Amino acid sequence: MRCIEVVELMTDYLEGALSPRERDRFEEHIAGCDGCRAYLGQLRVALRVMSGLAAEPVPARIQEELVAAFRNWKSGNV
Ligand SMILES: [Zn+2]
Repeated sequence: MRCIEVVELMTDYLEGALSPRERDRFEEHIAGCDGCRAYLGQLRVALRVMSGLAAEPVPARIQEELVAAFRNWKSGNV
Protein backbone atom coordinates (compact mmCIF):
# COMPACT_ATOMS: atom_id res chain seq x y z
CA MET A 1 0.00 0.00 0.00
CA ARG A 2 1.38 3.42 -0.94
CA CYS A 3 1.34 6.44 1.37
CA ILE A 4 -1.34 8.22 -0.63
CA GLU A 5 -3.64 5.18 -0.40
CA VAL A 6 -3.09 5.05 3.34
CA VAL A 7 -3.97 8.74 3.65
CA GLU A 8 -7.14 8.23 1.65
CA LEU A 9 -8.21 5.45 4.03
CA MET A 10 -7.37 7.35 7.21
CA THR A 11 -10.78 8.81 7.96
CA ASP A 12 -12.44 5.44 7.29
CA TYR A 13 -9.88 3.81 9.57
CA LEU A 14 -10.61 6.26 12.38
CA GLU A 15 -14.35 5.70 11.90
CA GLY A 16 -13.85 1.92 12.00
CA ALA A 17 -15.20 1.62 8.46
CA LEU A 18 -12.40 -0.46 6.91
CA SER A 19 -12.71 -4.16 6.17
CA PRO A 20 -10.47 -6.40 8.33
CA ARG A 21 -8.19 -6.96 5.33
CA GLU A 22 -7.86 -3.24 4.60
CA ARG A 23 -7.25 -2.53 8.25
CA ASP A 24 -4.43 -5.10 8.39
CA ARG A 25 -2.71 -3.56 5.35
CA PHE A 26 -3.27 -0.08 6.74
CA GLU A 27 -1.78 -0.92 10.13
CA GLU A 28 1.11 -2.74 8.49
CA HIS A 29 1.99 0.41 6.55
CA ILE A 30 1.53 2.70 9.56
CA ALA A 31 3.84 0.51 11.63
CA GLY A 32 6.65 1.00 9.12
CA CYS A 33 6.09 4.59 7.99
CA ASP A 34 6.92 7.51 10.29
CA GLY A 35 5.31 10.07 7.98
CA CYS A 36 1.94 8.33 7.88
CA ARG A 37 2.03 7.58 11.59
CA ALA A 38 2.61 11.27 12.37
CA TYR A 39 -0.10 12.29 9.93
CA LEU A 40 -2.57 9.83 11.42
CA GLY A 41 -1.93 11.36 14.83
CA GLN A 42 -2.66 14.85 13.47
CA LEU A 43 -5.78 13.67 11.70
CA ARG A 44 -7.06 11.98 14.83
CA VAL A 45 -6.75 15.29 16.72
CA ALA A 46 -8.35 17.22 13.86
CA LEU A 47 -11.31 14.82 13.73
CA ARG A 48 -11.80 15.09 17.47
CA VAL A 49 -11.92 18.89 17.18
CA MET A 50 -14.34 18.72 14.25
CA SER A 51 -16.60 16.18 15.91
CA GLY A 52 -16.80 18.55 18.87
CA LEU A 53 -18.07 21.27 16.55
CA ALA A 54 -20.59 19.19 14.61
CA ALA A 55 -21.82 15.66 15.16
CA GLU A 56 -21.45 14.80 11.49
CA PRO A 57 -19.10 12.60 9.49
CA VAL A 58 -16.13 14.43 7.99
CA PRO A 59 -17.33 16.09 4.79
CA ALA A 60 -15.66 14.70 1.67
CA ARG A 61 -14.44 18.19 0.82
CA ILE A 62 -12.43 18.44 4.05
CA GLN A 63 -11.01 14.98 3.48
CA GLU A 64 -9.90 16.04 0.00
CA GLU A 65 -8.22 19.12 1.44
CA LEU A 66 -6.37 16.99 3.96
CA VAL A 67 -5.22 14.62 1.22
CA ALA A 68 -4.08 17.57 -0.89
CA ALA A 69 -2.20 19.02 2.08
CA PHE A 70 -0.53 15.69 2.65
CA ARG A 71 0.48 15.45 -1.02
CA ASN A 72 2.10 18.90 -0.85
CA TRP A 73 3.81 18.04 2.41
CA LYS A 74 5.11 14.78 0.97
CA SER A 75 6.45 16.31 -2.24
CA GLY A 76 8.13 19.08 -0.24
CA ASN A 77 10.08 16.45 1.67
CA VAL A 78 11.38 14.38 -1.22
ZN1 LIG B 1 3.38 6.08 4.48
